[in-house]
Amino acid sequence: MNQTFIALGSNQQQPLQQVKLAVKALAELGQIKNCSSWYQSQSILDGQDDYINGVAELHTSLSALALLKALQTIENQQGRLRKERWGPRTLDLDIILFNNDEVQTPELTIPHACMLERNFVLQPLLQIKPGIYLPNGTALETISAQLGSAGLEKIS
Ligand code: AMP
Repeated sequence: MNQTFIALGSNQQQPLQQVKLAVKALAELGQIKNCSSWYQSQSILDGQDDYINGVAELHTSLSALALLKALQTIENQQGRLRKERWGPRTLDLDIILFNNDEVQTPELTIPHACMLERNFVLQPLLQIKPGIYLPNGTALETISAQLGSAGLEKIS
């Protein structure tokens, strides 16, 4: 069984409902072991609505690539329109960690390439998995402390 952490985000069409619905869809892919609180975060781009973010721990027999495809199906089912790379989105699902694997392919980068810059990923991840390390030995508590909590608020 593979242990993976999925980052969820939404800033369109009732974001809190979108991420809760996505957790139900994730549960179809294996077993949800943990789900963080929901956090409201200011968009990193000007003028976009705030996001709702969280992290779920999923145990699944799917490979990382099969999981990515399944996440994209869920995103599409929830009406994500891929208009612009960093544009508003109904639902964004990213694989942030997959076992202790390091993956670098055209389709997948694991650990997720941007996770170390995103307090809205690290804080919910550390909430459900305190003391977690990257495969290369980086302590995420340390990175998270450096990033701080600017623009981030725990809502539930
Ligand atoms: P985004 O618009 O942020 O959802 O990015 C989607 C693209 O990122 C997809 O085409 C994926 O192939 C690629 N990608 C690379 N690494 C990951 C990852 N760890 N989790 C999800 N998508 C990834």
